Amino acid sequence: MILMTIEKKIRELYQVNPKTRILVEKIHEKAKLLEEEGYDNIRIMNFCGTHEWTITHYGIRTLMPENIELIAGPGCPVCITPGHYVDILTDLSFDEYTVLSYGDSYKLPGTRIKGIRSLFDARLHGGKTEIVYSFYDAVKKAINNKDKKYVFFAVGFETTMPSTAVPLVNNMVPENLYILSAYRLTPPIMKYLLEKHPEARLSGILAPGHVSAIIGANSWLFLPRDYGVPTVVAGFEPLDVLVAVYYILDMLLSKKPSLINEYTRVVKPEGNIYAKEMIKRAYKIIDSYWRGIGIVPSSGAIHREEYNNRDILHILGIEDKPMKDVLPGCRCPEVTLGLAKPTDCPLFLKACTPSNPYGPCMVSSEGTCKIWAENLPIRIK
Ligand code: SF4
Repeated sequence: MILMTIEKKIRELYQVNPKTRILVEKIHEKAKLLEEEGYDNIRIMNFCGTHEWTITHYGIRTLMPENIELIAGPGCPVCITPGHYVDILTDLSFDEYTVLSYGDSYKLPGTRIKGIRSLFDARLHGGKTEIVYSFYDAVKKAINNKDKKYVFFAVGFETTMPSTAVPLVNNMVPENLYILSAYRLTPPIMKYLLEKHPEARLSGILAPGHVSAIIGANSWLFLPRDYGVPTVVAGFEPLDVLVAVYYILDMLLSKKPSLINEYTRVVKPEGNIYAKEMIKRAYKIIDSYWRGIGIVPSSGAIHREEYNNRDILHILGIEDKPMKDVLPGCRCPEVTLGLAKPTDCPLFLKACTPSNPYGPCMVSSEGTCKIWAENLPIRIK
């Protein structure tokens, strides 16, 4: 049954685009040549949770030669959002504030093991928490309910930062709407990973397509230049991923690591100039804590002084002080850094499931544990 499911997916993949089969054969040819040169374990990290979904859903790992390992990276913003932010917001939801959150952060656990662990739990216990689809929805809600106070949980990477930056800069955020900025930046975590965790042994990197549409493909030039790691900015179709793997193998073989932008239909070298300018005007870059990982230099964003009147931590004088937020038994930080697989966690699909997530990597559709849990038969190699 399991094999039939894998075969069905791969058959679909080949039917959608017959070139896929040719590409897979070429990947095998390159991998064989690399094996002859001593590359017996080529570890290619896909930064982005959406790449992980494509790889896992379509069974792309099953198509890879033995000496190629595709590993998931830190590209799930919900997974790395500090737990103490959730604690702060759940507490505020029992006070005079209504907390507004994207759906994928709604079940994110805070640091508490028992009781009210998430915004979802808070709602069940009478806290005022709601899901919104965008910051624009939050703005509309605040405008329509002037007698209430709202806090928006701003979780995300550079892709989502413009959604609050543009209204802030244009003075469009109503006075009864505040923001908790949990924004994190992507290039600094890859720099951190390569420097602090050489045991990850990255041979190549698939850089994120969505993020790069904002920050630009050139933001990843430092990976081949400073660390000698072949890097490809890739789109999210199965063929995009396979082309990116092929390019990485080609660069390894030629011993010429560089940056290739495979996703030119969306990503420009310089990115989105307007969005970058808005982010720069609204936010100040600071060293920031990543859940279970530590302080990563220049990886977070807080509001510039002129927007402090919209910053809930500033308004209430709450210190942004990380607390121990790795839940007992959860291996999410290692999963996030490519040092463990979800199946290495004893809680995977036992105490931690998509419908009842215990750890942060099981919450969002970009979380590696959730992706593996929902595509279980497909991921078996
Ligand atoms: Fe954490 Fe759950 Fe993943 Fe285990 S399965 S690492 S508990 S998120």
